[in-house]
Amino acid sequence: MKCSMCDNDKILKKETIATHRYKECGLENVILHGITSYKCKKCGEHYLSFGDIEQLHNMIATALTRKASVLKGKEIRFLRKHLGYSAAVFAKLVGYENEHLSRIENDKNAVQEVFDRLVRMLVMEKLPDRKYDLQDLFLEGKFMSLDWLEFSLAKKGWKSQAAA
Ligand SMILES: [Zn+2]
Repeated sequence: MKCSMCDNDKILKKETIATHRYKECGLENVILHGITSYKCKKCGEHYLSFGDIEQLHNMIATALTRKASVLKGKEIRFLRKHLGYSAAVFAKLVGYENEHLSRIENDKNAVQEVFDRLVRMLVMEKLPDRKYDLQDLFLEGKFMSLDWLEFSLAKKGWKSQAAA
């Protein structure tokens, strides 16, 4: 790993194993453990190494599909991006005006339960390891209550950690 901020082409110095609040993903309640922080010796720029981001985002998405309460705007936005859709395309797909979707994602319009379920179903169809089905989730109510989402990075990849 090399610095992209300066002309230092030497390998960066490994600094700490950090706990990091992962706001970069657009959610306020995701905590990551065990990620490595690197520092450029020349310009001081810090870098965080997140490991397999796709795996991590799949785990966040999995947790969100099982959330007991209705998804919040930010969670809808995370899942919409995880599905790979721009806001404009996604609005068209689900039959919303752009403005309406934008207001939902910004928590200005309420998330309708039917829309919440549609988003979860779309996400569940795309997740690589579905360990449950729609019937379990929606008919038998096998939800989890989620306050904080915590994950730790181990040698074999990301692991979900039960929230404290
Ligand atoms: Zn640098």
